[in-house]
Amino acid sequence: MTKSVVAIVGRPNVGKSTIFNRMVGERVAIVEDIPGVTRDRLYRLTEWLHREFYLIDTGGIDLGEEPLRVQMREQAEIAIDEADVIIFLVNGRDGVTGADREIADMLRRSNKPVVVGVNKIDHPNMEENVYDFYSLGFGEVFGISGAHGRGLGDMLDAVIHHFPDEESEEYDEDTIRIAVIGRPNVGKSSLVNAVLGEERVIVSDIPGTTRDAVDTMFEFEDQEYVIIDTAGMRKKGKVYESTEKYSVLRALKAMESADVVLVVLNGEEGIREQDKRIAGYAHEAGRAVIIVVNKWDAVEKDHQTMAKFTEKVRQEFQFLTYAPVLFLSAKTKSRLQHLLPTVKQVADNHHLRVPTNVLNDVILDAVVMNPAPTENNKRLRINYATQVAVAPPTIVLFVNDPELLHFSYRRYLENKLREAFHFEGTPIRLIARKKN
Ligand code: GDP
Ligand code: GDP
Repeated sequence: MTKSVVAIVGRPNVGKSTIFNRMVGERVAIVEDIPGVTRDRLYRLTEWLHREFYLIDTGGIDLGEEPLRVQMREQAEIAIDEADVIIFLVNGRDGVTGADREIADMLRRSNKPVVVGVNKIDHPNMEENVYDFYSLGFGEVFGISGAHGRGLGDMLDAVIHHFPDEESEEYDEDTIRIAVIGRPNVGKSSLVNAVLGEERVIVSDIPGTTRDAVDTMFEFEDQEYVIIDTAGMRKKGKVYESTEKYSVLRALKAMESADVVLVVLNGEEGIREQDKRIAGYAHEAGRAVIIVVNKWDAVEKDHQTMAKFTEKVRQEFQFLTYAPVLFLSAKTKSRLQHLLPTVKQVADNHHLRVPTNVLNDVILDAVVMNPAPTENNKRLRINYATQVAVAPPTIVLFVNDPELLHFSYRRYLENKLREAFHFEGTPIRLIARKKN
């Protein structure tokens, strides 16, 4: 199900990143820490009153050399394009400024729900500074303090109130939804077009657009697919469309509703930091992942080139060891015929359900072969394992003490599961629970 997106916009120095950090701060500790993944501060999953949503700090989107005023406008545009609800942050110590009014005009024209946060109201006796901001023309104005956490709860209540009703699935359960993500210019659009132009691919009517993503439905070997084209969403003339951080944002939204994520790399250029970021998000999203090395036609090759590149991928994306790596060319269509069969395979694996008795045999064998190390005279004992979910496969281990399941043993068990079952392309979640 698609989660709502909340964007914070406002002039520089009004406190956007302070608010952002405060809102995601408590949450960060819960999220699995993945070695090798660099995190952006601009886009995080957070929650309020048990509603999960994505929070964007538009101030964190680097728009390069543009003058400040242009950047501010573009950040507001991004918020308007991407968000379900906008938090318009202003500085309660400055009063309403010309730049505030400029942003307000844009936001008002968008008809998106806007909640005004008047920041730096550190003390109740400053509340009267808030009234001036009603003149911006938005009904909901809250005096808050990012520095002290004051007033944030009331503001977030108002934000959540605007969330759309939980959406129902738009496609058949059996339809495989593919998101194509990657840096600008790696060849995402070309890849989508190449797939849709394949001989045995039957493109059906475009069922309209999901939010602002462009979805195309097609059929291949009696299987229905939807391909979500993040690059196709480009709006001509918008400068921010080509910025790398913005491409991450688009990728995240597309992944939300996908079953299989194609992380596209440019084989000609090799792996960049931003590729790792995007791939890290794909892993975190719990989707099936395929790494596609595109533009392979443009690479000078010998019989070792592919193996060497694969090794590099494994090194740089250590958290994605389960993802198959495909080398192809969207331009010449060479090796493209492997793509859809691999998509089908990893989508099946993503939904794989293993019988409880076989699962327990595999875990038991693994433990017998290599018992967990002892720690302060205590050793992890696994009593029972059961798969509680698919997409991704999620396995609960009932143990004597969940604290004793450490990273390396977790990985050992995961490897054993991967040897025993067809989990290629899908992450596996292992959850330790105390046996009562
Ligand atoms: P951004 O540019 O909008 O992201 O603003 P920052 O979050 O970087 O904050 C700009 C400055 O305002 C920093 O020095 C913060 O410490 C300060 N600041 C942020 N929130 C508050 C607040 O609630 N009260 C006060 N007094 N200062 C704040
Ligand atoms: P996107 O920004 O990721 O959607 O990338 P595009 O699909 O727009 O492609 C960017 C550029 O790379 C274009 O000039 C394409 O013609 C080129 N390109 C895309 N795929 C290939 C490929 O497989 N081989 C070569 N040599 N060029 C490609």
